[in-house]
Amino acid sequence: MADCKHDYVHLDTQYLYYSRSFGNPTYKRIDRFYCTKCCEQKEVVKSECDCYQPEWFDSKNSRTVRD
Ligand SMILES: [Zn+2]
Repeated sequence: MADCKHDYVHLDTQYLYYSRSFGNPTYKRIDRFYCTKCCEQKEVVKSECDCYQPEWFDSKNSRTVRD
């Protein structure tokens, strides 16, 4: 499928909150997409280490990970 003109649709989004005893937490968002033509999947990962929650992060749907 080397010449597939990928047509990606959104599959799901994960929100991960990495809490730390010291320092700022890390906010991570993983968007998964798949191609409707060849079913290839791709992930787009955003990550930010900050004391404030970035606007692309949805805390209601997040999972907390202890570092
Ligand atoms: Zn494709």
